[in-house]
Amino acid sequence: MKAAMYYSLDNIIIENVPLPKIGAQEMLVGMRACGVCGSDLMEWYVKTRVPLVLGHEPSGVVAKVGSKVEGFDVGDRVFSHHHVGCLTCYYCRHGAYTLCEQFAKTHLQPGGFAEYFKVPASNLLIDTFKIPHGLSFEEATLIESIGCCVRALNKCTIQTSDSIVVVGAGPSGIIFSLLSRIFGAGQVIVTDFIDYRLQAAERLGADLTINPESESLIDGVKKATDGRGADVVIVTAPNVNAYLVGVELCRKGGTLCVFAPTQPEDFMRLSLNKLFFSEVKLVPSYSTSHVETRTALNLIQTKRIDAEKLITHRFSLNDAAKAFQTSARSKQCIKVVVTNEP
Ligand SMILES: [Zn+2]
Ligand SMILES: [Zn+2]
Repeated sequence: MKAAMYYSLDNIIIENVPLPKIGAQEMLVGMRACGVCGSDLMEWYVKTRVPLVLGHEPSGVVAKVGSKVEGFDVGDRVFSHHHVGCLTCYYCRHGAYTLCEQFAKTHLQPGGFAEYFKVPASNLLIDTFKIPHGLSFEEATLIESIGCCVRALNKCTIQTSDSIVVVGAGPSGIIFSLLSRIFGAGQVIVTDFIDYRLQAAERLGADLTINPESESLIDGVKKATDGRGADVVIVTAPNVNAYLVGVELCRKGGTLCVFAPTQPEDFMRLSLNKLFFSEVKLVPSYSTSHVETRTALNLIQTKRIDAEKLITHRFSLNDAAKAFQTSARSKQCIKVVVTNEP
């Protein structure tokens, strides 16, 4: 079967790889759509594992089911999440599924950017579900990204009418902008250096957008919040500067959500004296569990989040390289999806 083998961002090659063999409790799915995620574009994050097939936001049609699989049949349209907790360890028992030892070890094989992928037993049991009628394969690819944002906002405990600042208006930034409203935010401010993205954020409901290249971000946020700063600041841009400005944008006692990881060797200078007296809370949030993917599906199904509006580009599996490069470099795109017609 065909798969997009990733060697580096500028070297993604369509190769022939063996069709995964499935065991009795596993399932083979024909990929129909798979989103390109911001984490797929972070070379430092993937380079230790190359060459590999990326893609952790796939949907597709069940092609084969193991003899002991219950609840799924050949032909079912499904979404499957690539990481799942064990549900029994210390972390899972505390609801911290994404910190479970098993979580990052579980994978769809070889990955979503392939003609077929195998769903291992653990992923099948806990975090694979049928795509409801009326929902497209492409819309279903947003379940994972929306799940990650739901998990982060749950941790930030937004109160009704809070003011939220979203730093970075890529796909996650725009999802946060939409979701914050659903979580009860009174005011949503989005900032980015790319006007195209800010315009998309405005169309999708942001109250105020600020491009720091044309006006002062700190002044703009202070002005919109009676001089206090925002109740919650969510950083979706994986760089130290975004975090440095994020802390400044928080009100006293506010929350800074660490949503995008920087490179491991990046450090941020933060005065603990200032942190202590301002009582700003740092809240990191990594990935999504089976709990939030359900919520995400519901949000998409009920059109409270119109997933279609987030997808701006589609490429066939043969053009996976173009999909990655567009997602990484185009200044006129939000979510890029790779599709595959059987
Ligand atoms: Zn993702
Ligand atoms: Zn566990």
